[in-house]
Amino acid sequence: MKLLEHEGKDIFTKYQIPTAKRFGIVKIGDDPKSIELEGKEWVIKAQVLAGGRGKAGGVKLAKSKEEAYEIIEKMLGMEIKTHQTQGQALKVKEILIEEASAIEREIYLSIVLDRAHCSAMLIASAEGGMSIEELAKDHPEKIIKMPVDLGEGLQEFQVREFFFKLGFDKKLYKEFSALAKNLCRLFKNIDANLVEINPLVITRDGTLLAIDSKIVTDNNALFRHKELQALKDHESSPIEKEAKEIGINYIGLDGNIGCMVNGAGLAMATLDTVKLAGGNAANFLDVGGGATVDQITKAFQIILKDEKVKAVLVNIFGGIMKCDDIANGIVEATKKINLNVPLIVRLEGTRVKEGKQILLDSGIKLNQADSLWEAAQKAVSKIN
Ligand code: GDP
Ligand code: MN
Repeated sequence: MKLLEHEGKDIFTKYQIPTAKRFGIVKIGDDPKSIELEGKEWVIKAQVLAGGRGKAGGVKLAKSKEEAYEIIEKMLGMEIKTHQTQGQALKVKEILIEEASAIEREIYLSIVLDRAHCSAMLIASAEGGMSIEELAKDHPEKIIKMPVDLGEGLQEFQVREFFFKLGFDKKLYKEFSALAKNLCRLFKNIDANLVEINPLVITRDGTLLAIDSKIVTDNNALFRHKELQALKDHESSPIEKEAKEIGINYIGLDGNIGCMVNGAGLAMATLDTVKLAGGNAANFLDVGGGATVDQITKAFQIILKDEKVKAVLVNIFGGIMKCDDIANGIVEATKKINLNVPLIVRLEGTRVKEGKQILLDSGIKLNQADSLWEAAQKAVSKIN
């Protein structure tokens, strides 16, 4: 799960990682003037799940209250495209207002799950800020890494080595050490995959401040984090949320072939095969082991909610469920819904002959296939 900047900063505060003073959060429909502003300069930040907001107009400084309110009004509802949004525009539904910080220097600091090293990895660069991706490409030597044993926590000798490689002023050592250790603790405690501060700044007064936050947590560990469960899911589409509520594993994709499969492994193989046949799947969908009529009906309904879908490919292996039961399920489900796109069905497994006969006798307009490859090719040809 990805957290918004302000949600991440709330967690930072719990772990004594310093952030700028917050004046409030404004959502669409709220009156910006309900936020009381104090001080001289404010930073107004679009809360969307993507970095690169600075360059896309999603981070603005205001030097007067009037200017601040004006920026908030303009930014609310605005659409943001950054290098991290894959061509999509994200609507700004929330805005964070903080006291602007006087920045002396911007640093990059993060901790990430490094699968190649089988450990957490603390990463930093003395040249942080907006274009860390370019820095990693052009000057990888400027990026410093340190594997961290999360059980032991970050050790002082590691901090020392890390800190001096970064070449910071010794005066910052104590503060940096505490912050880096807190960051590692946070990473472990919330079961994160990534916690990034870009930039972590050295202010003109010579202290450290987390100006931005990016947190990605492990969904498989969500069950043990009530505080994270309480956060709104900003990431899933409305169809994905609905599927989750009725117990169907569904992930929306960019293509136009809707896929209904039982078992996650078979579902992934189906997506690969569709691709190989020259098509693109509209979704990943696992109806589960016991694909009942009810589940199959619901799965069809979910798949067809996606307007991109131009054909539906059903690929079900009758293991626990027998193929004749599944075929009856498909027949009943298609009677209940208004299926107005081509349907391709590939059944395999126990009582497959009987299953295929049931589909044949049903009179429903569908295309059967004997193999996954054939099914994928048929689905692609229906679309072209
Ligand atoms: P991102 O572009 O989505 O990563 O958004 P950030 O929160 O990292 O902000 C982008 C950039 O805006 C930072 O790298 C800073 O240079 C600048 N910025 C953000 N907050 C402040 C602030 O309080 N004061 C000043 N002077 N600049 C800021
Ligand atoms: Mn940033």
